[in-house]
Amino acid sequence: MAQRVDLDGKPVAAMSICMIGGGGFIGSHLCEKLMAETSHKAVVVDVSSEKINHLLRESNPWSSRIEFHHMNIKNDSRLETLIKASDLTINLAAICTPADYNTRPLDTIFSNFIDAIPVIKYCTENNKRLIHFSTCEVYGKTIGSFLPEEFRKDPKYYMLKEDVSPCIFGPVEKQRWSYACAKQMTDRLIYAEHAENGLKFTIVRPYNWIGPRMDFIPGVDGPCDGVPRVLACFSNNLLRGEPLKLVDGGRSQRTFLYIKDAIEAVLLMIDNPERANGQIFNVGNPDNEVSVKELAELMIQVYAKVAGVPSSSLSTLDVSSEEFYGKGYDDSDRRIPDMTIITRQLGWKPKTPLDKLLDDTLQYQHQTYSSAIKKVLSKPSN
Ligand code: NAD
Ligand code: UDP
Repeated sequence: MAQRVDLDGKPVAAMSICMIGGGGFIGSHLCEKLMAETSHKAVVVDVSSEKINHLLRESNPWSSRIEFHHMNIKNDSRLETLIKASDLTINLAAICTPADYNTRPLDTIFSNFIDAIPVIKYCTENNKRLIHFSTCEVYGKTIGSFLPEEFRKDPKYYMLKEDVSPCIFGPVEKQRWSYACAKQMTDRLIYAEHAENGLKFTIVRPYNWIGPRMDFIPGVDGPCDGVPRVLACFSNNLLRGEPLKLVDGGRSQRTFLYIKDAIEAVLLMIDNPERANGQIFNVGNPDNEVSVKELAELMIQVYAKVAGVPSSSLSTLDVSSEEFYGKGYDDSDRRIPDMTIITRQLGWKPKTPLDKLLDDTLQYQHQTYSSAIKKVLSKPSN
């Protein structure tokens, strides 16, 4: 492999990277990228390897550069040894599906705050660099959501800036915010370790990264009653020919970023510590903003083409948030990332428009799941 250079033209030395939660959606794409395009070694720690099994086969040319440790970080003393032996730790481990935030708030808070504490401690004590995955959800609701319609058009009331925007959460009874609050505490702990003890950190705030291998399809590779994030919920509806459920009419807005664009940003952070250390990065695509209702309509059009079915056979259905998620659900109204810091530090920009990313992703969903769904649907229900 030709010598890779960083953004300042200096050679990038091969590193050993401890990827906690590296067996999940983002981790699996990052492992693929590291194996295909770098000489770095991935030491993956996760409770599941399902999404990276294709990379772990001994017949792969890079098999000596990736290892998997089946481990729950809640209670495993091997974690410190693995962090100590690596040059960089990337922490992706989390419960991060909104259906869990109000129904499993304790697990959500432990996973996103308490379980991250030893990771941060081991990195600080052993002088190891940490790239930690936070979330755009730490910003909560926009200021604009509390203002009359005419004020909402001004970007200062909705654009989310890492070093300016406040974090606006609902009351404690709205347990949806348990995730955002736990993630925010972790961000603050990392920042405090940096300020007081010199921890070298980068915090990543993903804005709805989507693509192949995201979450699961209920009843196929996840629990029948499981509720994944919106891409997998709508994919499941489309595969089964059911209406796509619009929570509270699907009026919330999101910006969607293709996972392959996102991974380019993470690789820049890995390879450019001098530019990435001490930074908090929004990573999203402000040009891909839609309401959830618009997303559903677009997915219907794209899926109809991919699966060769008439789009008139696919529809949407309004449901209340209480019916869909239960008590304590609440929502972020709008999430547009300000991109100033990541553009300045790393020169990164997203590339893939929403229709193209949905086309690639729905082709993957159709190829991967349509025969399994047919089998499930053909079984008589009890
Ligand atoms: P994911 O659920 O696919 O990946 C998380 C991985 O962590 C899973 O493989 C899970 O098994 C593992 N894990 C959880 N608890 C663990 C434990 N105790 N011990 C070992 N492994 C454990 O989710 P993802 O989308 O890949 O997200 C990765 C990170 O990015 C998370 O921290 C999430 O909060 C953050 N994030 C992602 C998005 C997005 O758009 N995908 C948005 C905001 C934040
Ligand atoms: N949503 C929806 N129908 C679904 C799943 C989700 O309308 O079947 C909505 C959800 O209420 C939220 C948005 O889609 O407004 C995005 O949800 P997701 O679970 O992807 O995570 P979030 O962006 O809220 O973290």
